[in-house]
Amino acid sequence: MLRTKVLIIGGGPAGSTAARFLAKEGIDTILLERNFSFVKPCGGGIPDAAFDELGIPRNIIKKDVKNIKLVSPLNNAVDIRLEGGFIAIVKRGEFDSLLREDAKVKGAQLIEAGFNHFEEAGKQITARVNINGKEEQIRTDYLIAADGVNSRVRLALGLKLSSAVYTLTTKIKNDNADTCEFWFGESHARKSYSWIFPEAEGISAGTGSSDPGELKGMLKAFFGRRGLNADSTATRIYKVPLWSGELYNKDNILFIGDAAGQVMPLTYEGIYYAMKAGEFAAMAIIAGKPSDYKKLWRKRFNSRFMIMRKLCDYFLRDDNSAEKLVSLCRRHEIQAATMKLWLEKSSDGRKLISFANFFRKVLN
Ligand SMILES: Cc1cc2nc3c(=O)[nH]c(=O)nc-3n(C[C@H](O)[C@H](O)[C@H](O)COP(=O)(O)OP(=O)(O)OC[C@H]3O[C@@H](n4cnc5c(N)ncnc54)[C@H](O)[C@@H]3O)c2cc1C
Repeated sequence: MLRTKVLIIGGGPAGSTAARFLAKEGIDTILLERNFSFVKPCGGGIPDAAFDELGIPRNIIKKDVKNIKLVSPLNNAVDIRLEGGFIAIVKRGEFDSLLREDAKVKGAQLIEAGFNHFEEAGKQITARVNINGKEEQIRTDYLIAADGVNSRVRLALGLKLSSAVYTLTTKIKNDNADTCEFWFGESHARKSYSWIFPEAEGISAGTGSSDPGELKGMLKAFFGRRGLNADSTATRIYKVPLWSGELYNKDNILFIGDAAGQVMPLTYEGIYYAMKAGEFAAMAIIAGKPSDYKKLWRKRFNSRFMIMRKLCDYFLRDDNSAEKLVSLCRRHEIQAATMKLWLEKSSDGRKLISFANFFRKVLN
């Protein structure tokens, strides 16, 4: 049986970041990732400020995106130029490996293995894991569940998974873009939007819906509307969790990133918040107070997530509301406030209040 102070399940941005912070403080940490070659289907867009904040080298950035385009159901378009920052595009496989390697350099033990279930999950925690086809046990004081939207740790504890929106994405190699495009319209995206994202090579195009069964037809409809070649469809369905803000820790088991549903409503931005959750979980464990994790996360992000959930529920409910959203985003002060909220991640309460006030008229 292996023994450690902290066992982290999942080596994506959330788990690797927790491992980096714990190992840096000399805490005995094992990071378990079931497949080092796994590449998460993801646009790989991260606000550039996150790189300095979290000590990640900027040379991993493949593209700087400074333009955003919103297109309404009735084809009204708004182009927004980002100021004071940009969306950095990374290649997810490369980015996740870099974070894991950094955790290793700082002293974490990396093991390619899958979590199966718990032998015990009370005062003592013993996990059963699959290493090279053999089941082994790892005993630990703390366990961090960073195993993504289909979290096996949640299921093993009898906890429900977050509700989710389903996405279907395709990569188109022989196309190019320097703008992130968000297309609204119920004919091709339900309770969601369709998008074009610049990639390191080519673009990714995708759409979202609460019903996975209608995604193929919707992606085709989006391709038609956007004028994309519908033949290049090597597609993948993947879930984005819908945030509810209920799950932080169960005693010494902490949930972070997609496993905790920590994806920003409306924008579906999850990488930055997954990494910050990893940092906060590590800080709470270092302090020996796992319940601090919830306090740290809520203090920094709860108001922002609540506001965005309200806006998401309102603006993504039908075409009329999406039309209003794009029309509102024509106003310079709304563009500026939205981009600040996206690119600057400080918890400045005044900025949040002024942002909420902009939209109050519409929501009431
Ligand atoms: C189509 C799409 C586009 C997106 N685009 C963006 C974007 O542009 N910007 C953005 O910020 N967010 C985006 N997101 C959201 C973002 O991808 C996630 O929020 C982010 O990856 C969450 O990180 P995580 O570490 O919590 O989970 P994940 O990245 O899912 O990592 C979980 C890890 O756990 C491992 N794992 C799972 N089960 C086990 C197990 N039993 N044992 C061991 N390991 C296990 C997996 O292999 C994986 O490596 C997008 C999501 C989708 C679906």
